[in-house]
Parts: sequence; structure tokens; C-alpha cells
Amino acid sequence: MSDEQPVLTTEQKELLYLIARLTDSLNCPTSWIKETPLQALIFHGIRKGLFNEYDYAPISTSFLGQGRKFVNISKECEDDLGDLRELGLLETIRVSSEKHDYITGYRPTKDSVNVIKSLENDIRNRVDTLFQCPFCKSPNYNLNINVENSAFIMKCADCKYVENIPLIIPEDVSYNTQPYFFPFLIKKDTKEQ
Ligand SMILES: [Zn+2]
Repeated sequence: MSDEQPVLTTEQKELLYLIARLTDSLNCPTSWIKETPLQALIFHGIRKGLFNEYDYAPISTSFLGQGRKFVNISKECEDDLGDLRELGLLETIRVSSEKHDYITGYRPTKDSVNVIKSLENDIRNRVDTLFQCPFCKSPNYNLNINVENSAFIMKCADCKYVENIPLIIPEDVSYNTQPYFFPFLIKKDTKEQ
């Protein structure tokens, strides 16, 4: 194997480090991060100034066995997940859930260990900040998911500070008041007039 390391963008480095952190891949390379919590943390990260080149948009997707919902997903992130896989730095697993949906899990490959170890400190620090309570600065600030309510929050285990992650677009949002979710419908309407 060549010693040469792949050239990654800042966003790809942040993404790889985030997944390594969530799966604790350097210490215990047996866990996978599921795509939904990963999407929630990436969306949260974008809103906090990470993943500078990423954008997000609500995409209708089958969601945690609860039918289809509009979920804020980053297309650029999906592309980078694919790129990191092609570079041999990430691997995925697909498992079927109780409700017969398929869930994808991600983790860094063994080959990625040296790449992750050589990531710059500012990349690590930026991602680590996501897991630091903005109120009491405790590092025990983690994602909590309530599947029944489709609620995603960051919660501090020490001071109980809570931040909502609006990953899912509420169903009572009217199409008329939020036309930017459906640019293709607007086009169609214009034609018909
Ligand atoms: Zn706190």
C-alpha cells in the first residue's frame, strides 16, 4: 500500500473526524453510526458554522419507520460520504429495521486510521465544539432522539441545557406559505396561468 494520503477537502476532513468521533473508531472499531443521527448532527453542524461548503434542503424521505417526512438533508454531504467510501476511508452497512425500512450505518475503515490521526487540530476542535455545552462548557453534550415525536435535541448531561435541532419539517407547514420547498410546483403554476 502506498504511504501517500488522499487529499481531502476541509468538509471531508470534518465529516471523517465526526464519524470517527461518533463511532470511537480509533479505540473500538466495532460500532456504526446510523444515517439519521448522522444527518441530524451534520444539519446541526452546518447551522453552527461547520461544513462551510454544505447547504441543506428539505427532501421527502422514508423516516424511521414513520412513513415519508420532509427531512433537512445536505446533498453535498451525501456526495462526500460517497467520495470517502470510494477513497476507502469509510465503509457502510445496510440493515433492515423492524419496520422493514433499510438503515445505513457508517464507520471509518481500518485504512483511515492514519488519515484520521493526521487531521489538523483546528478540524478536530471545530467538530469537538459541537459536543461541548454552550452554557456550562461540559463535554457531555450529546444528541438525543425521540423517535415517536421525531424530535432531535442536543442535551447537556450536566446542566440539562437543551437545544432543538429542527431536522424534520413540521407537517402543518402549508405549501402556500412555504413555496420555496417546492420550486418545481411554482414553475408548473406559472405555466398554467
Ligand atoms: Zn451544560
